[in-house]
Amino acid sequence: MLRLVTLFALGLSTASLTAQPLTGGPSASFVPPGGTSLVVRSLDIQGRAFLSVNDVLAALGGSVQFDDSTFSYELKLKSHSAVVGVETPIAVVDTRLVSLSTPVHGVGSTLFADPDFFQKVVGPMAGTSFVWERSSRLLSARKADLPEVVVEATLADFEATTKIVLRLTEVPAFRVEKGEETLVIRFPAARLTASPPEMAFDDPRVARLAVRGSEVYVSLRERNLSTNVYALQTPPRIVVDVTKVAATSGRSPGAAPPPSAPAKPQPKTIVLDPGHGGTEEGAKGPGGAMEKDATLALVKSIRETLFRNGYRVVTTRETDTTVGLDERPALANAAKPDLFLSIHCNASRSPSAHGTEVYYLSLDASDRAAAALAEKENRTERSATPTADRNAALRDLDLILWDLAQNQHLSASARLAEIIQADFNRLLGVTTRGVKQAPFRVLIGANVPAVLVEVAFITNPEEEKKLASEDFRRQVAETVVGSLATYFRNADGAAPVPPVKTR
Ligand SMILES: [Zn+2]
Repeated sequence: MLRLVTLFALGLSTASLTAQPLTGGPSASFVPPGGTSLVVRSLDIQGRAFLSVNDVLAALGGSVQFDDSTFSYELKLKSHSAVVGVETPIAVVDTRLVSLSTPVHGVGSTLFADPDFFQKVVGPMAGTSFVWERSSRLLSARKADLPEVVVEATLADFEATTKIVLRLTEVPAFRVEKGEETLVIRFPAARLTASPPEMAFDDPRVARLAVRGSEVYVSLRERNLSTNVYALQTPPRIVVDVTKVAATSGRSPGAAPPPSAPAKPQPKTIVLDPGHGGTEEGAKGPGGAMEKDATLALVKSIRETLFRNGYRVVTTRETDTTVGLDERPALANAAKPDLFLSIHCNASRSPSAHGTEVYYLSLDASDRAAAALAEKENRTERSATPTADRNAALRDLDLILWDLAQNQHLSASARLAEIIQADFNRLLGVTTRGVKQAPFRVLIGANVPAVLVEVAFITNPEEEKKLASEDFRRQVAETVVGSLATYFRNADGAAPVPPVKTR
C-alpha cells in the first residue's frame, strides 16, 4: 500500500519534470464540428505532440477535473464520463476499458494527451471522429458517421425469466434506460438495422420489441419486472433478462400489502464469473475433469439458488466460451452489481491439498503460493510473452485500475472474503485455510466488492469427485447464499462480523 503511493507520486513527478521545460511549447489548433479554429495548449514530448484535453473539452462543452487523492483526471462531456490516471496506458470510458497508445501527461490540473487519445476516449463521448494533421498541428472533430450494426433478436421463456438475445455484428457502447413498463437500450455510436424491425411476442413478461435508429425498445407486460442487460462476446450479443421481482411473502399477487409492512428492499445484484472457458481450460483433475467445466457447473447451481433467494444474477459466461480477463469485470461493472464473485478450482502438485481458498485483490501476494496461483490464473493462452515482460505489463495495468476501481472496495472485499472462507471451511471440514491476497487480474477492474473463490482442489481425487456431484454443488450454492446473507445483514446493519458464524 505504502509502496503504491510512492509509485504514483513518482509517476506524477516524472510527468511534471518532462513537461516542465516544454510549457509554452509550439501551439496547436482545434476545430470543433461546424466551428472555427481555436488555439489550444500543446507540448512536444520525445517528438510527439500532446494537446490540452482541458482546452478541447471546453470547446466541446465539457470539463476536466484533477483528483489529487487518486492522481487521476475525470473527463465529463454530455452524459459521459471518463477517468484516466497519470502515466498509465488505460482509460475507463463510461464502463469500458480503453487502452491508449501513449500514457497521458499531467501538468497541474491540465491534462495533455496525444491525438490518438482524442479519437479513442473523447470520440465516443462526443459522438465525433478526430483527425490530426501533423504538419499544420491541427486537430479537427467532425460528426462521426455511425457504423451500421445488424441486430437479430430472439426470445426464450425460461421458468422465471424471459431472455432476449440480441445478436449483433459488433457490440458498440450502449446505455440502458428502464421505465415502468419499458426498457430502452441506446447505442449512441451506431445505426441499427433489423428485419423485421418490430416483433410481437406471446410471452408472459415481454410484449414487443422494436429496433429504431440507434435504439432497441422493449415493451414489458407488467410494472414490477426487473431487467438485467449485459453484453457477451464470441459471438457478439446483448442479453436482456426479464424477471419478476421475487415475492417475499405468500401474499396473492395484487393484494394490498399489510399497512405495517416495511418497504421491500431492492434485490441485490450478484455477478458470478465462472473461471476460464473455451480454449482456456484452467486446471485439470487426475480423472480428467477440467476446471472450466467445473466452474460453469458451480456457477449454474449458485445462480439458481441465488435466484430462489430473491437475488438478481448476472454471469460473465453461460457456455463454454473464451472471455477475456479484462472483459469480465467490464461486463460486471456494466451490470452495476452489489458484488462480484469469481469462481475457480484450485490446483496443487500435492494430491492431498484440499479445501477452499478465498482471495481478494492486492498487488502483493500474501505468500509465495498465493503469488504462484495468481500468476497461473492471470495467464491466458494469448499472453505467450516471457513471464518478466508480462508481469511488468500487468503491473502497469494493475496500478491504475486497482487504484481507480477496486481500491475503494478493498475493506468490503476483505470482509466478504473472511465470511465466505469461514463458511466454506465448515463445509469442507477444514480449519487451516485462511483468506489470502493476490494480484488477480480478473478482480482488478471490478468497481464493486470482489472476491475470487477457489472452491476446492480439482487435483485432489476426492475433491475432483465432489466437484462432479450435483449434491456437492448444491451445498456450495447454499453456503454462498448463507455467506451473502451474513455479508448484507452486516453491511446494512453495520454490525461487526463475528469471526466464526454459527448456524
Ligand atoms: Zn482458475
